[in-house]
Amino acid sequence: MSREELTKIILPEEKLPKYWYNVQADMPNPLEPGLNPKTKEPLTPADLEPIFAKDLIEQEVSTERYIEIPDEIRELYKKWRPAPLFRAHGLEKALDTNCRIYYKYEGVSPVGSHKLNSALAQVYYNKKQGIKRITTETGAGQWGTALSLACQIFDVECMVYMVKVSFNQKPYRKSFMQMYGGKCVASPSELTESGRSILANNPDSPGTLAIAISEAVEDAASREDTNYSLGSVLNHVCLHQTIIGQEVKLQMEMIDEYPDVVIGAVGGGSNFAGIAFPFIPDKLAGKNVRLVGVEPSACPTLTKGVFAYDYGDVVGHTPMLKMYTLGHNYIPPGIHAGGLRYHGQSPLISQLYYDELLEAVAVRQNAVFEAAMLFSQTEGILPAPESSHAIRATIDEALRAQEEGVSKAIVFNVGGHGHLDLSAYDNYLTGKTEDVEFTDEILQKSLDSLPKV
Ligand SMILES: *Cc1c(COP(=O)(O)O)cnc(C)c1O
Repeated sequence: MSREELTKIILPEEKLPKYWYNVQADMPNPLEPGLNPKTKEPLTPADLEPIFAKDLIEQEVSTERYIEIPDEIRELYKKWRPAPLFRAHGLEKALDTNCRIYYKYEGVSPVGSHKLNSALAQVYYNKKQGIKRITTETGAGQWGTALSLACQIFDVECMVYMVKVSFNQKPYRKSFMQMYGGKCVASPSELTESGRSILANNPDSPGTLAIAISEAVEDAASREDTNYSLGSVLNHVCLHQTIIGQEVKLQMEMIDEYPDVVIGAVGGGSNFAGIAFPFIPDKLAGKNVRLVGVEPSACPTLTKGVFAYDYGDVVGHTPMLKMYTLGHNYIPPGIHAGGLRYHGQSPLISQLYYDELLEAVAVRQNAVFEAAMLFSQTEGILPAPESSHAIRATIDEALRAQEEGVSKAIVFNVGGHGHLDLSAYDNYLTGKTEDVEFTDEILQKSLDSLPKV
């Protein structure tokens, strides 16, 4: 069959990658070390062992190019992987474009997003080490849902601190987690010192990912049988997600195709890392492929932030990481792509962006929802609002190609579906979404809180 006729490009199960790809093996400039928040000295494994599994700490600092996926995880992946790559015939037609547009669809996972790729791996390594309970934070709820299922599969208890504004906007997320046996509370909560101190200052705090992280880390650090798990940002999380881009490369090879542009939404960076990192070796070898991360203009970490050491949370419990940041005190406006409301950024993405191997664009909420609507109507998939950022940027890319009179192959990642994000879409449909302006004053104020190193 010619590539023009294909709608769905399916990779046979036996081609499911056997390794995760570790970009740290190929980076022109290695990461700067994370710093202990108290001593400000480079982190040692001993700093991380109270809350992370040993194997994950090893992956965090590894410079091995390929890390074997344990058979048990690979078997679990087969429930929905390899995930389909679609040719966006409907969207192309609506745009009347010469571009060939493809999207990887991670919404076919049981939990509806790419997050399960890392959740299964993280719980597996914790279980192996005898951990009985795992805490985490969740923004929009996708990560808490994925971790709840992974914990159920490995018979580990799951405790989720969910950012309050999302908890209230998406009440069914809690039910979803509970159906998998997870426990979910709104953050800031009264259960931790961090939560109580935030509430004392601001009883109406809408919460942020940074606050929820403080709570989850404090909880994990206070119990011997409990570890903490993070759904994005860290190197090992980006590593687990590289199964996405490796599959995309194989799928495009099957139809004799290679992308000019690879696009993904960027919150903490994991789904973009997942689709983009496997293309980095090609790019370093001289291939002309652009890797573009898309963020909300209300939380423009890469395009407006600074590359500096900062905390991952609001209280300063986490290590300091060198990353693009808006300052850990930055409270992003309540835009509905909850998964993109984070002040910081994956250190790997940050370094690669600094080194100009990755690009970034910021897009506005209303334009994003408009793109989501066109995509739903032409492709039939209701995307997560986060993924809709990638759709917006893809459409803009295709329109620009049109103006320039060129044809491009564009592939983007749809990290998840939006079936539990309908309150956000409802706000858009009833004219209630605002394009919040991000100002330099807000930025300056929150950058004042950056730790001195
Ligand atoms: C969590 C999530 C994001 C944001 O997190 P990243 O680590 O940047 O991927 C984006 N899209 C979807 C569908 C998500 O679930």
